[in-house]
Amino acid sequence: MNIHEYQGKEVLRQYGVVVPNGKVAYTVDEAVAAAEELGSSVVVVKAQIHAGGRGKAGGVKVAKSIDEVRTYADEILGKVLVTHQTGPEGKEVKRLLIEQGCNIQKEYYVGLVVDRATGRVVMMASEEGGTEIEEVAAKTPEKIIKEIVDPAIGLQTFQARRLAYAINVPNELVNKTAKLMMSLYQAFVDKDCSIAEINPLVITGEGDVMALDAKLNFDSNALFRHKDIQALRDYDEEDEKEIEASKYDLSYIALDGNIGCMVNGAGLAMATMDIIKYYGGEPANFLDVGGGATTEKVTEAFKIILSDENVKGIFVNIFGGIMRCDVIANGVVEAAKEVGLERPLVVRLEGTNVEIGKRILNESGLNIVSADSMADGAQKIVALVQ
Ligand code: ADP
Ligand code: MG
Repeated sequence: MNIHEYQGKEVLRQYGVVVPNGKVAYTVDEAVAAAEELGSSVVVVKAQIHAGGRGKAGGVKVAKSIDEVRTYADEILGKVLVTHQTGPEGKEVKRLLIEQGCNIQKEYYVGLVVDRATGRVVMMASEEGGTEIEEVAAKTPEKIIKEIVDPAIGLQTFQARRLAYAINVPNELVNKTAKLMMSLYQAFVDKDCSIAEINPLVITGEGDVMALDAKLNFDSNALFRHKDIQALRDYDEEDEKEIEASKYDLSYIALDGNIGCMVNGAGLAMATMDIIKYYGGEPANFLDVGGGATTEKVTEAFKIILSDENVKGIFVNIFGGIMRCDVIANGVVEAAKEVGLERPLVVRLEGTNVEIGKRILNESGLNIVSADSMADGAQKIVALVQ
């Protein structure tokens, strides 16, 4: 789960990370009031969306007067920001962070991730802050310095200091920087983060070390033990279909392709996406209806797939073990009756009650193409959507 920058800064502040003073605003008047309250000569107006790259896209503006705050707030609120992380459709700005302007001397990068290769938390730092770190990683990977953390003892001060020296933080600020890194690590572990990124981390003309941006991402499987973090969830930023799916406890992830998939079992769902791609198609989603799904759940799952306008065809691929094929068939027929089905549908059923399932589909009057195997089904649906 993602949260906004201003929320991330609030969490980090609790751990002793220095962040500029600021306040969230939902309207232009609130933005002006927040700026007046801050009382600093320079105020930064920042779009709050769940994506980075806002600066380049015009979502971060430096205001030198209250009039400018009003102008920028008016300009950014309601604007659809397109950044390298939003996709071409962009994201509408509904909240602003009104923040104290900061006298930046140099920008750095600090981030924490769970590294799959080592199975450990890794802290990364770079002298190339402020820019897209993905670009630094691609073009000059030697400029990203890493420290692998031993989970038994956590990030050690010497590691943080080593990172600070390696990215050429001025000697007199190394201790402050290391302290910030230690605090960031503590927040990461305590809150079950999957990513914690500060880009830029800055040193200021006054000799402070501050987080000017904050991106925190949380492991959804651990959210049950962080009610405070759950409360920060912003449904406006999430995919509607994914929210709907989570109500019915379906594992659903929206993707960019045009072939909707309904599958039981995560392994089969992965294999189905693979085979669709193998035959030249693009899956529109990952969907695992689970083992013990009811007709109602299958109906909802099918409706979610149909609600996606990008879906040009659907591939139902079921191996009935615990899941019975007749339940799937009933769900498909039920959903098609409720919302209509004009798009091609390929069904491959195998396993428990397969004969009953096939009969239900045959007698439904729906236009269904049946497949004998996964490969057969994938080829058929790829051909039908082309
Ligand atoms: P994004 O990463 O989405 O572009 P950032 O929060 O990193 O957004 O802001 C972009 C740039 O704007 C920063 O690299 C920094 O140079 C500048 N900036 C952001 N916040 C402030 C601030 N409070 N004071 C001064 N400059 C800022
Ligand atoms: Mg940034």
